[in-house]
Amino acid sequence: MEYYVIIGCGAAGMAAAERLRRLKPDASIVMVSKDEHSHSRCMLHKYLGGERDVEGLAFTDEDFFEKNHIYWSRGQAVKRVDTAAKKVILEDGELVYDKLLIASGAVYSVPPIPNFRTADNVYGFRDLSDAVKIRKAVEEKNAKHVFIVGSGLVGLDVAYALLEQGVKVTIAEMADRILPLQTDATSAGAYQELFEKAGASFRLGIGASDSKVNDKNEITHVILANGEEIPCDFVVAAAGVRPCIDFLKDSGLEMERSLKVNEYLRTSDPDVYAAGDVTGLSGIWPNAMDQGRKAAMNMAGMPVAYTDSFCIKNTINFFGLAMLSAGDIEPKDDSCQVYTKESRSEYKKAIVKDGIVTGIQLQGDISGSGFWQHLIKNKIDISGLLKEKNIFHISYADFYGLDSTGEYIYSGQC
Ligand SMILES: Cc1cc2nc3c(=O)[nH]c(=O)nc-3n(C[C@H](O)[C@H](O)[C@H](O)COP(=O)(O)OP(=O)(O)OC[C@H]3O[C@@H](n4cnc5c(N)ncnc54)[C@H](O)[C@@H]3O)c2cc1C
Repeated sequence: MEYYVIIGCGAAGMAAAERLRRLKPDASIVMVSKDEHSHSRCMLHKYLGGERDVEGLAFTDEDFFEKNHIYWSRGQAVKRVDTAAKKVILEDGELVYDKLLIASGAVYSVPPIPNFRTADNVYGFRDLSDAVKIRKAVEEKNAKHVFIVGSGLVGLDVAYALLEQGVKVTIAEMADRILPLQTDATSAGAYQELFEKAGASFRLGIGASDSKVNDKNEITHVILANGEEIPCDFVVAAAGVRPCIDFLKDSGLEMERSLKVNEYLRTSDPDVYAAGDVTGLSGIWPNAMDQGRKAAMNMAGMPVAYTDSFCIKNTINFFGLAMLSAGDIEPKDDSCQVYTKESRSEYKKAIVKDGIVTGIQLQGDISGSGFWQHLIKNKIDISGLLKEKNIFHISYADFYGLDSTGEYIYSGQC
């Protein structure tokens, strides 16, 4: 009997388990997770806003573990991994493995602002347990005003859920616009307007530098770098995450900021693999799942390289305004061409370098998202088409297929 152990039941762990079971019908597969419930982090704001209950955050069938004959040790933190003895040490026991997958994700970071790391009312937003704490804080404190550090997807998810419950939010962002990793000034402006209409207040290009606490060790005011004091019932830190590797420090596995893996998602130990946010290769859901599946194949002896270095892409939807953002947000240098189209209801921006699309933003109308991602991912040269067509009118219909050298052929080339 072969023994497989998977640490983590998030996107990467679950995708790996499912694939491993298909490839190894007779093996023993054990999963262990700190999480009591396997849940989608992308949906957490729906729980926070009261739109979904815990069951509504699941992203696999209810009978996933039974159906796949997988033993799940839930609500258990792995204390350490002993790679020499091939053991995973738990709080109350240990698991032996032939092959181990580490899919422990990431943890949120709290910025080093006075009191932020020690006060009792600073929360992160990564796990269901964080959402439960924030919900409880809203109810118990009858919260009226919350301060959020960071206006990325996580910070805005929290803001959105709190605004829906009538709680006012102030969001501080060091960049000059919100969602700085996904938007430019125009697309960010559209979201900012919607959030402000709903009662949010932004402080852009400025950070928090200090805070005041009361005798219960709770932050009551956050002080910005310009001296402005913002009152709050509690604080949410949404300014970044780091790979969850602290429990691996004595494992002998090679790590820097993240757990190091090679192209086969294998760590420095030949029997230990890793997938998802813990590898630092990407920080998004679909890539974590893809890595999980590929790691499982490698663990099962079917070598497959993880080569998808595809740019970060996000689909966003706040207040009904949908957006796709993939690749570059701004041109990297003067040789890039920037194409834009703007109307009351939509905004499009494409960045092209040497005939290859390197970035796309579609806001309002995200039809054709798959096509644009395909162009970027496959680095398809559209310079010929650009001579005769508006870039935003190009579609799959303009291509016949691949020629004998593997290059795409435009209709105009035939
Ligand atoms: C609020 C929020 C919104 C997001 N929105 C989006 C989005 O819209 N689109 C998108 O693509 N991505 C989004 N992401 C990112 C996405 O959720 C992650 O990229 C994805 O969850 C990574 O999957 P993972 O399996 O690597 O880690 P995770 O899903 O974090 O799973 C980690 C697992 O490891 C377990 N674990 C950790 N340490 C231990 C330990 N010591 N012992 C036992 N178990 C342990 C945890 O309990 C958990 O089960 C969002 C993330 C957050 C937090």
